[in-house]
Amino acid sequence: MPADARTERLGRNLAAVESRLEAACRAAGRERSDLVLIAVTKTFPADDVRRLAALGVHDFGENRDQEAAPKAAALRDVALGWHFVGQLQTNKCRSVASYADAVHSVDRLRLVEVLGRAAEQAGRTVDVFVQVSLDDDQARGGATSEELPALADAVAGASGIRLVGVMAVAPVAADAERAFERLATIAARLRVDHPDAVSISAGMSGDLEAAIAAGATHVRIGTALLGDRAPVVR
Ligand SMILES: *Cc1c(COP(=O)(O)O)cnc(C)c1O
Repeated sequence: MPADARTERLGRNLAAVESRLEAACRAAGRERSDLVLIAVTKTFPADDVRRLAALGVHDFGENRDQEAAPKAAALRDVALGWHFVGQLQTNKCRSVASYADAVHSVDRLRLVEVLGRAAEQAGRTVDVFVQVSLDDDQARGGATSEELPALADAVAGASGIRLVGVMAVAPVAADAERAFERLATIAARLRVDHPDAVSISAGMSGDLEAAIAAGATHVRIGTALLGDRAPVVR
């Protein structure tokens, strides 16, 4: 990838994001190395992934299989971690399990069964974050706190997938700090039964500081790294 103007732009954005991450870690008494930065590249081309990879980013997030599958295929020559962060349909599990290293959006029992089987058939182990709804309004996905224990037990008991923690998106209208504190409480409760499920996927461009303060281990950053997205035509 030539050092073009786009690479320079991405490099500046990455430096700005890194300084926010470092400041947030410092404020929380945490280490930057405890945090995984996932660049959410949805709507941006595979070449941007290549540019960010050359700048040192290793983990990439996508939210639609139709877009993620060809992008991951185009980048097979680069060793990257692929994170599927969007709502997942059972008929996409086979495809997603073929390239995703982690799925952050498992929010119902039926998905556990289908994704686990697909991963097993692909001869892979896929990390699973159980997505929780922080306002118990499931419009944007996420299990309710009542559903979470059974869902987590199912993930932990399935082959092909591995329970690594929880994921959430802060509700639009909510105070992000309170929302992520609630997530931290849910995560702590989960670790009583599943001590290895230590990951917390939380924080986007607008609220990464609040997420890091509340213990996020994986931040999912799109706009602040890549710029504004064109509207998606579905
Ligand atoms: C798009 C997306 C992000 C990144 O959001 P930005 O606000 O652009 O940083 C994070 N998480 C999920 C689930 C997304 O769909």
